[in-house]
Amino acid sequence: MEQKETRPEGVRRDDADPAGGSGSEGLGNAGHGSETRPENGSRVPFAAWDRTRVLQAMSREPVDLLVIGGGITGAGIALDAVTRGLRTALVEMQDFAAGTSSRSTKLIHGGLRYLKQLEFGVVAEVGRERAVVYENGPHVTTPEWMLLPFYKGGSLGRVSTSLGLALYDWLAGVKRSERRIMLSPRETLEREPLLKREGLRGGGLYVEYRTDDARLTLEVLKKAVECGALAVNYAAAESLLYQGGRVAGAVVRDRIGDGRYEVRARHVVNAAGPWVDSIREMDRSKEGKTLRLTKGVHLVFDGRRFPLRQAIYFDTPDGRMVFAIPRDGKTYVGTTDTDYQGDPARPVMEEADLVYLLDAANFMFPSLNLTPRDVESSWAGLRPLIRQEGKNPSEVSRRDEIFVSPSGLISIAGGKLTGYRKMAEKVVNLVALKRKEDGLPPLPPCRTRTLPISGGDVGGSAGFEAFVRRQIPGGVAAGFSEEEAARIAKRYGSNARRLFRLAAESRGLAERHGLPPALAAELLYAMEAEMAVKPEDFWIRRTGMLYFDRPGVVKWKEAVAAVMAERLGWDEEQRGEYDRDMERLLEEAVRPVAP
Ligand SMILES: Cc1cc2nc3c(=O)[nH]c(=O)nc-3n(C[C@H](O)[C@H](O)[C@H](O)COP(=O)(O)OP(=O)(O)OC[C@H]3O[C@@H](n4cnc5c(N)ncnc54)[C@H](O)[C@@H]3O)c2cc1C
Repeated sequence: MEQKETRPEGVRRDDADPAGGSGSEGLGNAGHGSETRPENGSRVPFAAWDRTRVLQAMSREPVDLLVIGGGITGAGIALDAVTRGLRTALVEMQDFAAGTSSRSTKLIHGGLRYLKQLEFGVVAEVGRERAVVYENGPHVTTPEWMLLPFYKGGSLGRVSTSLGLALYDWLAGVKRSERRIMLSPRETLEREPLLKREGLRGGGLYVEYRTDDARLTLEVLKKAVECGALAVNYAAAESLLYQGGRVAGAVVRDRIGDGRYEVRARHVVNAAGPWVDSIREMDRSKEGKTLRLTKGVHLVFDGRRFPLRQAIYFDTPDGRMVFAIPRDGKTYVGTTDTDYQGDPARPVMEEADLVYLLDAANFMFPSLNLTPRDVESSWAGLRPLIRQEGKNPSEVSRRDEIFVSPSGLISIAGGKLTGYRKMAEKVVNLVALKRKEDGLPPLPPCRTRTLPISGGDVGGSAGFEAFVRRQIPGGVAAGFSEEEAARIAKRYGSNARRLFRLAAESRGLAERHGLPPALAAELLYAMEAEMAVKPEDFWIRRTGMLYFDRPGVVKWKEAVAAVMAERLGWDEEQRGEYDRDMERLLEEAVRPVAP
C-alpha cells in the first residue's frame, strides 16, 4: 500500500535547543564518537538528564537506522549496526528492557526443551551462542549446573536423558569440562536433598548459564552508545514517516518531557517484541503471519523458606517442564505458559498462575508445603511468538522470524534472549543488502562475536575471577567493604571503577538520606550512566531488587525516591505518580489479580 508522506503538526525537526544550548556536539557519531570512553571517566550521553539532548540529536539529521524497541533484540541490533559504521538511533517507549527482556527465566540456554520438539536447528544455534554471550559479558552471565531428575513412569528415563543430554552437548558444541554427567538416585539426592524421593531413578547434570536479562540488555545497549549510537527511553514511536511509499523514520513522543520529534531514517527496524504487530499495523502491513502472546510467570521465595542448593529442571504433573533456580539467597520457580489477551505493558500474576506454580513446586519438593504466603515476589512476561494454528502455547516454536513489508519496514519477532546477537546479525545483514541495492557502499561484516559488551573488559570468562579480586583494593580505598567491592565488581564488571569513583559523592548522599553507601553509588551510576529515570527503573531493571530483595525495596524506597527527585528535579505531581507506581508494583508482585 502506498503511504502518503507525513509530518504531523507540532513535531520538531532539526530543533533549536530548547534546553538552553546544552548542545549535542559529540553525540551519535557512529563508530568514532568523542564520548565513547566510559572507563576513563569521560561522558557517554546516557544519563537520565541527557534524554532531551539525545532526542534532539536524533532529529537533527537523518540516521541510517532507526530501531523501535529497547529490549534485547533492539539493543543487539543497535550494537551490530553502529559497530558496522551505521549512524544508529534507538527509541524505547518504556524503560529499556521493561518489556519481555526483564521478565524471562534469566537463562542463557540452549533450550533443551526444543530437543523434545525436534527443533535441532534452534538448539544448535542458540546452544553455541551461549559460549559467545558468556565470553563477551562474564559479569552478567554465570555458568550454572542444572539437574534434570527422572522418575519411574516419567517422560524421561536414564537412557533417554543420557542420550538427550549427549545430543544437546554435541549440537550446542559444549566444551569438555561442561559435558553432561549422569547421577545415581543417591548422588541426585546428595545434590538436592529437597527433591521428591519416591520413584527417583537418577538425574542428569548439564550446564546452563544464569544471567540478569535486564542488565544484559543494558550492557549491550550501553556498548552501542559507547560506540556512538543514540538511545533514549520513555520515547514512543507514535507514527511512521514515509517518503515515496518507503518507510523513512518515525514521529517519536517523549513520554517524560512530552515533546514530539521527527526522526528521519534510511531504514527502520521494528524490534518491538510483544508490540511488533502494533507497529506493523501502523505500517498497514500486518498480514500473513501474526504474533501470539503467551504469558510466563515466575515466583520468588526466600532461601530460608525454600533452601534450594541446586538449580533443577523438572517435570510438572501436566507434562510441562519448570525451572527452580537458587539466586542471591532466594529461589525462583517458573514458568507458566498460557495465552494472553490483556495489556502487553502490564502482564501480572493471576490466581491460577500462583496455584499452578505452587502445585508444581510442592509436587517436586513435597517436604516444603509452600503456600501463597511464602511468595516473596513474582514477575510475569509475554513471549512474542509467531502464531502456529492448532498448537498449544508450550508447543509453539520459539524460532525468530523477519518480515519485510512493502514499505521496507523490517520487523523481527520470536527468538530468545540467548540468540540476540545472531538475530541482530541477520537483521543488519539484511539492511546491508538493501543498502547495496540502493547503490551504497558495502558494510563490513558483523563485528560483535568477539566484542565485549559494556563492563565486559575483564579478560574474558577465564580472567573474570582474578579481575574481581583485583578490583577489591580500589573498592576498599573508595570506602566500601571487601564484600561490597566484590559484589560491585561482579555486577558491573569493568564499569565498577566508575562506581568506585562515585563513592565520595555517593557517601554524602548516603549520609543525608540514610542510604547504604553501596546502594547510593549504584543509584548515582544508574542515573548517570544507565538513564534510570524513575524509581522502578532502578528497583527492577538496574538492580533486580524488586524481584530478589523486596524487603530492601520497602526499606529504601523513600530515600531512593528522594534522591531521584532531587537529582532529576521532579515536581510534586511526578513524585506522587512515581510513588504510586512503586506501591502498585510492590503489591502486584505478591498479590495475584483475579483473572
Ligand atoms: C516467561 C519467559 C521466560 C523466558 N525465558 C527465557 C530464557 O530463560 N532465556 C532466553 O534466552 N529467552 C527467554 N525468553 C525469551 C526472551 O525473554 C525474549 O525472546 C526476549 O526478551 C524478547 O526481547 P525483545 O527485545 O524482542 O522484546 P522486548 O523485551 O519486549 O522489547 C520490545 C520493546 O519494544 C518497546 N516498544 C514497543 N512499541 C514501541 C513503540 N511504539 N515505540 C518504542 N518502543 C516500543 C517495548 O516497550 C519493549 O520494551 C523468555 C520469555 C518469557 C516470556
